[in-house]
Amino acid sequence: MQKVGHYINGQVITDGERSQPVYNPAKGIISREVLLGNTKTIDQAVAAAKVAFPTWSKTTPIQRARIMFKYKELLEHHADEICHLIGEEHGKIVHDARGELQRAIENVEFACGIPELLKGEHSRNVGSEIDSWSQFHPLGVVAGITPFNFPVMVPLWMFPLAIACGNTFVLKPSERDPSATLFVVELMKKAGLPDGVLNLVNGSKETVDALLEHRDVEAISFVGSTPIAEYIYSKATAHGKRCQALGGAKNHAIVMPDADLDNVVNSLLGAAFGSSGERCMALSVAVAVGDEIADKMIAQLSAAIEKLKVGAYHDASNDFGPVITAEHKDKVIAHIRSCVEQGATLVVDGTDTKPEGYENGFFVGATLLDHVTKDMDSYKAEIFGPVLQVIRVSSMEEAMELINQHEYGNGTCIYTRDGEAARYFSDNIKVGMVGINIPLPVPVAYQSFGGWKRSLFGDLFMYGSDGVRFFTRRKTITQRWPSASVREGVQFSMPTL
Ligand code: NAD
Repeated sequence: MQKVGHYINGQVITDGERSQPVYNPAKGIISREVLLGNTKTIDQAVAAAKVAFPTWSKTTPIQRARIMFKYKELLEHHADEICHLIGEEHGKIVHDARGELQRAIENVEFACGIPELLKGEHSRNVGSEIDSWSQFHPLGVVAGITPFNFPVMVPLWMFPLAIACGNTFVLKPSERDPSATLFVVELMKKAGLPDGVLNLVNGSKETVDALLEHRDVEAISFVGSTPIAEYIYSKATAHGKRCQALGGAKNHAIVMPDADLDNVVNSLLGAAFGSSGERCMALSVAVAVGDEIADKMIAQLSAAIEKLKVGAYHDASNDFGPVITAEHKDKVIAHIRSCVEQGATLVVDGTDTKPEGYENGFFVGATLLDHVTKDMDSYKAEIFGPVLQVIRVSSMEEAMELINQHEYGNGTCIYTRDGEAARYFSDNIKVGMVGINIPLPVPVAYQSFGGWKRSLFGDLFMYGSDGVRFFTRRKTITQRWPSASVREGVQFSMPTL
């Protein structure tokens, strides 16, 4: 059985005592084994990163940018192999993997602009013959811990920018679909990155804990579920590290009575069921304002869902694939059953979906639940599967209150033709990323990504300008080269310039 190893100091390491299976979720079979690192493996990776830091941090930003330009070319050149690996282990369809890769590459493109991004702020003559300016210094060895649902994009939210800022990096990707991540990490060497600057250790809790406790790791960037994000944030900060920990989501779409229903239905289909609903920006709740629009929306959605095609990643005619594991399939189905037991109407049932030739795969078909209420357990939880819950309310205020009261605050959107309503919504909704007639308002690489409430622990969003701030430390220098004429005497009061 092929082993997915670690990547430390420019070498792939396939020796290790512990490993766990990696599945092909469409077939329901084990395709590889992934090594699970321990404290010793993390020590080796951090040591390599620490040795590489002094030289790497002194390279010029333009030299680092050149490596990023080359890296972008390599990612594009190897797109088919990367998307194949994503599809094989994650299960997402090849066109969706292409989208993931493109969004990942955009982060590399942003990092290509690092000379401009690291320019400090300069003020001349803050006092007589005194100039002041800020510089942005790399932190040292920094680490990233990433989830299964974007095995290429989320790691690339982190390491290209962190490295471009002059840091060295240790990545702990998801153990459930590690091959595409290892592939894109190794490509950095071909782009010219010196050994030790970027390292990867596979593993699970033990590996993560070793990173969180390591005295030479300066910062932790995490993306995953909320309970783990909260754990990571509290443990990393207790160990004196800078931390940003992005968590889970329950994203609502408000459908106003004046909305363009065809647009709503197309948007909801893609955003609720695309990638089997395993996106932190998936729309999992549609809040219909009024029964008239709710009835029409349910009728159109259920007709459209019947035509969706579920299957394996390599057939581009499929709309979405399996969920990640057999356990996750069971969890999604348990949420659907509990929702019905607690009073919802099961309009379309995807619990018994078996595409031909893939009967053992971890498939759940598109599922539509109506008359969901806020007290239901499945509404409070992040289901993370191809399940759309519909809640009926009588006003926009009621819809907004529902969203504002939910523990998560990652993404949301409103469908309306009324500009005043849209503006009121975006001004007052307690959510980090807002769409107006846009189902998945994922900020582009030169904005920054993050949620509110229990969808983000920490202060800075991921990537973009917040990413540059997260991966650098500011230093402010105030300088005088006095001429003989302005030399001052002793001054005991607080200097004012
Ligand atoms: P997860 O929290 O199970 O795992 C994320 C990472 O944490 C993995 O690398 C995993 O190995 C590690 N981990 C898991 N359990 C751990 C533990 N007990 N101690 C230490 N480390 C542990 O998340 P997942 O299932 O891989 O990914 C799906 C989740 O990620 C969903 O909740 C989704 O909403 C969220 N997500 C959020 C964003 C965002 O930007 N907010 C983006 C993508 C995914």
